[in-house]
This record gives sequence, C-alpha cells and structure tokens, in this order.
Amino acid sequence: MNFIDLAAQQRLIAEKLNANIGRVLAHGQYINGPEVRELENALAVYVGVRHAVGCASGTDALLMALMALDIGPGDAVFTTPFTFVATAEVISLLGATPVFVDIDPKTFNIDPAKLERAVKAVKSSDPALHPLPSEIEERRPRAVIPVDLFGLPADYDAIGAVAAHHGLKVIEDAAQSFGGEYRGRRAGAFGDIACTSFFPAKPLGCYGDGGMCFTSDDCLDEALRSIRVHGQGDNKYDNVRIGINGRLDTLQAAILMAKFEIFPEEIELRQEVAARYNKLLSGAVVTPAIPDGYRSAWAQYSILARDTVGRATLMEKLKAAGIPTAVYYKKPLHRQTAFAGLGYREGDFPASDDCARRILSLPMHPYLAADDQRRIADILRGESGK
Ligand SMILES: *Cc1c(COP(=O)(O)O)cnc(C)c1O
Repeated sequence: MNFIDLAAQQRLIAEKLNANIGRVLAHGQYINGPEVRELENALAVYVGVRHAVGCASGTDALLMALMALDIGPGDAVFTTPFTFVATAEVISLLGATPVFVDIDPKTFNIDPAKLERAVKAVKSSDPALHPLPSEIEERRPRAVIPVDLFGLPADYDAIGAVAAHHGLKVIEDAAQSFGGEYRGRRAGAFGDIACTSFFPAKPLGCYGDGGMCFTSDDCLDEALRSIRVHGQGDNKYDNVRIGINGRLDTLQAAILMAKFEIFPEEIELRQEVAARYNKLLSGAVVTPAIPDGYRSAWAQYSILARDTVGRATLMEKLKAAGIPTAVYYKKPLHRQTAFAGLGYREGDFPASDDCARRILSLPMHPYLAADDQRRIADILRGESGK
C-alpha cells in the first residue's frame, strides 16, 4: 500500500502529460515559457483572485511574500509552531522574529484568541500575557502567517479581525490546502498574499519543486514578479530591489496543467476517502474535526492516538501489515534546535506539544481503495482498546 499513490494518477493523465511535456521540448522556452502564464491564469481563476505568480517552491512563495510586504529586522511575524519548518524559517531568514502562537487542538490551526493575546504581549513586551521570544523588546508586530494544516483552512474571519485591529498583514500558508474551502471561498484567496506549494506530495503536486503566490493587490503582484527575477525593473538589466532567482520551471508548469485537469475531481475523491475513514474510525480514535463551512483539501488524514506509546503501537501494527504512516510533526518549531536562539521553552505551547506526541497520518490519496481503508480501520480498531 502507498502513503500517496502518484503512479495511479500518472496512468490516468499519461497522454496529456506527454503531450504537454513534448510541447515544451519542442518550443524550448524552459524558463518563463508560455505554460507558466497559462498555469498562473488558470489557478488565479480557480482560487478566485486577480493574480497568481508561479515560483520555484512553496518556501520561495513564502519568502517572496514577506519580501513584497517589506518584512525584515525589527519586525515580529506571528505563526504556529505546529507546521513544516519553512513557515517560520523564511521569517528568520529575513532577519525578522517569529512569534509562535499555539493551535486550536481541534483543527490543528492557529488559535485566533491566542493570536490576539500574543500581539498585545509583543506591543507591551509582556511575556506574562503570552510566551514571547527573548529579546522581543522594540519588535513591531507586522504580519501573521496562518497555516492551513493538513488541508484545512485556518479561521480567516477571526484572524482577519485581529489583523485589522492591530494593523497586521496576513500571509496564508496554503501549501497543504490548495483545493480547500472556507465560507464559500477557496484556499489561496485569504490574506494579502497566499502561498502554495507544488511539492509532489501536496494536493496539487508537480514532478519536482514548484510554488505559487496569489494576491488581488496589483502592487503586490508587481512586487512579487520583480522579486521572483532578482528584483527586476523595466528590463533584465534594470534592478530596482533585492530579489531572488525564484522562477517556476516551464516543464513543471506544463506538468501541472495536465494534473490540474483532473484536480477538481480528485478533490471530490479525497472527500469520499476522508468520509469513509471518518465512518470506519469513529469511536476508535480521534478523527479530524471539520467545522461547518470548511472543506479540507485532505493533504493528510491525521488522527490522534491516546498518547506517544499508543501511537507507536498503532504504527508498528500498521507497519507489520504493510501499511505506511507518517508523523507530522513530531517536534514543534519552538523546540527545534534551529530556533533555540528564540529562547522558547518546552511547555510554552501545550496544545502543539500534545498533538506532536499523539498525531498520526494515515495513507491518503484520491485513489485509495475502500478495501484498503477497511483493512487499516480493522487494525486501528483492534488496537484502540475499545
Ligand atoms: C510543504 C510546505 C511548505 C514548503 O513548500 P516547499 O514547496 O516544500 O518549499 C511550507 N509550508 C507548509 C505548511 C508546507 O507543508
């Protein structure tokens, strides 16, 4: 059994894939070929925003978003510690300070009430209000990066209210949620800039690295396009700002165009697979909670085991039956060595710590067979102690 079955998908779209790749090899515009613009236009329409800017990875998308918003030294950027390292890494890379905010353990996403307290704590340099990084004095609260973890959008209405009240920019980390929805709008449409990833294992993945920024702000679109190509101005040899080499390959755009044709259908199939898991596992383990008005893109289907020992037992049983599992994320970012300089302590973010000890992701992809799901559920139910 596969954790993610990219081969099944490839068989379905082989003809289209080969035709698209062949077209790029024929025209030879490997950098900034017409497929990049074609993909940007198609995905901007799908998401429901004015602009999409393809780039080299989800990490670059986040980095470019922060650069377009002029985030740098002296700035505090709020985000969750229960995420992939890239979300906070880009904040530090630009010399800004990540300020972690604990999650709502039901959704695994940033808790808007805790965000409000964290902003107040930074403004007053008062760690009694909220755990703060050391040396936080004189940091300006500038932005928040909510993460749509496992494909479920964060609570953008509540986050938006806090952000508006305190003058924060919002960057949606939609790396896992492309295809997800929140109150009638698609993931990628939230905040000032949204960022997604086309890493192969994401809901819409390419055959290498790739990413995209989304915005409806014309000025931010222009800034992102410039940053993507070394801060380019009117032409290649006019440089108006410091940028990066962050382009999306034409070949990856062509591959994504083929995959995007079946993507809406795959999102529907993911809903069916998740619903089947929910039914099979209800009462045995804690299954994912999808609040009313939300739709997950189901990048991962993650359950909570009783505790670390219970999780290890479940993983061993599944492994013995040839069923792969994964743990996202075993160690929250505030406890990672890379962020030790921030001075956070174990226990600063108890919900993230608790989920890190218990979370377990099961095989999840649009082509997962019902029989395989039943086999997984039988093992989990047998081990659940109920
Ligand atoms: C995958 C991921 C990223 C980074 O995307 P890459 O394309 O791998 O650079 C950022 N944030 C989250 C939440 C992710 O899951």
